[in-house]
Amino acid sequence: MKRRTFLVLLVLPLCFALSCRKQDREANGKPGEGAKAHIPDTTSQAYPGLDEIKGFSIQAYYSPGNETRARIIAERCEKAMNYVDRLVGFRPKVSLFVLNPEHWKAYATFPVYGMAHYSNNERLIIASQDNDLWKSFVPALDRVPKEMADQIKRAYTVGDGALSMMAFFDLLALHELGHAFHEQAGLTMPRLWIQELFSNLMLHTYIAENEPEKLPVLEVFPETVVAAGTFGFEFTTLADFEKKYSSMEPRNFAWYQCKLHVAAKRIYDDGGEQALIKLWRGPRENKETMTDVQLADFLKTKVSPEAARVQTDW
Ligand SMILES: [Zn+2]
Repeated sequence: MKRRTFLVLLVLPLCFALSCRKQDREANGKPGEGAKAHIPDTTSQAYPGLDEIKGFSIQAYYSPGNETRARIIAERCEKAMNYVDRLVGFRPKVSLFVLNPEHWKAYATFPVYGMAHYSNNERLIIASQDNDLWKSFVPALDRVPKEMADQIKRAYTVGDGALSMMAFFDLLALHELGHAFHEQAGLTMPRLWIQELFSNLMLHTYIAENEPEKLPVLEVFPETVVAAGTFGFEFTTLADFEKKYSSMEPRNFAWYQCKLHVAAKRIYDDGGEQALIKLWRGPRENKETMTDVQLADFLKTKVSPEAARVQTDW
């Protein structure tokens, strides 16, 4: 595979690359007008301009006109919360926001529309509609191998035959939910890459166990990026990831995320949902600082040999 072929593809994970890193910009401005006639469950009193979905244990708000889509996302988040709660005995407090571009400016904490993120104030923020960011990630199928093009078409074709990455970005909401779990539970993740691995493993485990028909949507993109190699990336080691987590170039960060997702799939395939439980319990019960050697042993004995191989065979 020619490296150039992947240039377009490699831009894709920019979204979840950036969304993982904490963004502390305070919300500013007011939500705009433009709400069309509709019959919402209720108009939110807490968030002017938004409607509220009732019937879920999590609070969920959406920009008018997006109720169907917001319900789908809220239902998935609710199911994932319940599922992971059953596994680990904890559930975070999260409010879901499904926002159009206008309301994004008012309520999101990351400026670029389309980037799902979990904010410090317990908000899980998702875009309500396809957007230029997502569209920019659709690969040119005539520039990738046929087998890969077929996989992409099967995973990301929408009703009118066009390609859209919306389905992939929808699932990343659960990666961000993963951060809510480990942060609110006060887990001491021994490395930043392990907290990202945990979020990816939670996402993958939920989908594999509960919505297996979505696995191609979740897997095709990261596998494609990892297969493209590391050409052009300044940082490629786990040690680099720790040092440059908040400052490295977004595409480079995205490559790490894709590699960690492929690793999460291997860990799940090897150990099933027990692997997620162990990756939760390990950091919960061990808060001491570890050297790399100690960490490898910790992962091998407390989680699984496959988890240890993320570090030792990186
Ligand atoms: Zn993350």
